[in-house]
Amino acid sequence: MSFDKFRDECGVVAIYSHLEAEKLVYLGLHALQHRGQESAGIVTSDGMALHMHKAMGLVADIFQEAVLAKLPGTLGIGHTRYSTAGDSALLNAQPIMVQSNKGMMALAHNGNLVNAQDIRHRLESQGSIFQTNSDTEVIVHLIALSKEQTLPEAMADALRRVEGAFSLVMISPDRIFAARDPRGFRPLAMGRIPAQGGEKQDTIVFASETCAFDLIGATFERDVKPGELVIVGPEGITSRTYAPALAQSSCIFEHVYFSRPDSLVFGRAVQESREELGRQLAREAPTEADIVVPVPDSGVTAAMGYAAESGIPFRFGLIRNHYIGRTFIEPRQSVRDFGVKLKINPVRSLLEGKRVVLIDDSIVRGTTSRKIVRMVRSAGAKEVHMRISCPPTISPCFYGVDTPSKKELIGANKSVEEIREFIGADSLSYLSLTGMKKACGDGEKTSYCTACYTGVYPTNWVDVEEIQPASISKR
Ligand code: AMP
Repeated sequence: MSFDKFRDECGVVAIYSHLEAEKLVYLGLHALQHRGQESAGIVTSDGMALHMHKAMGLVADIFQEAVLAKLPGTLGIGHTRYSTAGDSALLNAQPIMVQSNKGMMALAHNGNLVNAQDIRHRLESQGSIFQTNSDTEVIVHLIALSKEQTLPEAMADALRRVEGAFSLVMISPDRIFAARDPRGFRPLAMGRIPAQGGEKQDTIVFASETCAFDLIGATFERDVKPGELVIVGPEGITSRTYAPALAQSSCIFEHVYFSRPDSLVFGRAVQESREELGRQLAREAPTEADIVVPVPDSGVTAAMGYAAESGIPFRFGLIRNHYIGRTFIEPRQSVRDFGVKLKINPVRSLLEGKRVVLIDDSIVRGTTSRKIVRMVRSAGAKEVHMRISCPPTISPCFYGVDTPSKKELIGANKSVEEIREFIGADSLSYLSLTGMKKACGDGEKTSYCTACYTGVYPTNWVDVEEIQPASISKR
């Protein structure tokens, strides 16, 4: 079995103490649906036992009223995931729930571990049996095998042994745990809903993005800190630093593309970053044009910034169909660019005869961008100037963003001029690395990982010496 590397975009939610915990987890996942659309799962606790349901599909389709009715509890965690298709997909859906000598627990993880394979090989050679091919299961095994007696200690012990990106939430019958890796790759925010009606105490919530808080009426309190383990239980909220924070490498792609613009991520409004990315792009790569058109939805906010800075009018020249995920019914006679047309259609009356600045956040393989440029031209545009609000993507992500291998990344294999030719634009410019970091406030509240644009990774592939948990070197 191999790990599902590079393909593990996820959202996590946790709720401590609410009479309808399952509904709040559900709503939180609903707000985080953009972080993963292939599977979702919820585990709740009624104080005695854990209840779980997970399935392939979208949150709203999986968690119908009757399913939620089977998830009673006042505590809950949830996970939504984008993973590779295939038989193993449901097996790898999260949360992962186990019964161990430390009791029942279930864990939901956003990010990718870089030393999971190593740890797994060693654990397997000592007799551990893995049920999934997800790197997250390694954490569960390390917790179960830890010589520490209590769950908080065992969890801290396990987290010190794994390397890479993890923002995770865990549930036991009476507690919620939330932790981030020492480099703070992926976001994890903590919030609160004041006690109401029959509730005796405030509800504490955790979510990958604060847009989940808005939906459930929670106020953002703070981010879980890198290297921090927060435990919420009958004793209240306790926090420990399970490992010292390292140089921060928050994922800049969260601000460029992944998070919703209405979220606060790493303490900064995504909207602000994205608009500034567009403004900076206009300063660095101006062009003579009649209209600024975003590729929906990924280019919208940056295009507004570009338009505001350049003074060129913003127009929705491409319309996205929001109601189609995918279809298996295609005409037998091949229709040109069928796949893209399902999702996006040009507005001829806006584009005809115009010099268009087309804005998107990234070019990955180049295939979609090529179809979109062709579409804009076929709707009558006179010129198409493509502007990208980040530098060329040249290296895969090992920390939880779905990027293809280097050989499929057009930015790793072609020059900007060759990419321009491939996508068929009249001109093509990317934002500079310095411009991108500045637009996202690098060095203010956090510092960013930009490995997908530079090939410089903040972690090594750590080789864990010994598998006896107590003797694995602690960092
Ligand atoms: P392509 O031209 O085929 O490289 O596709 C570029 C499009 O993919 C852009 O609109 C991006 O917003 C989008 N994109 C970039 N990264 C991702 C990702 N990790 N998951 C899904 N879509 C992405």
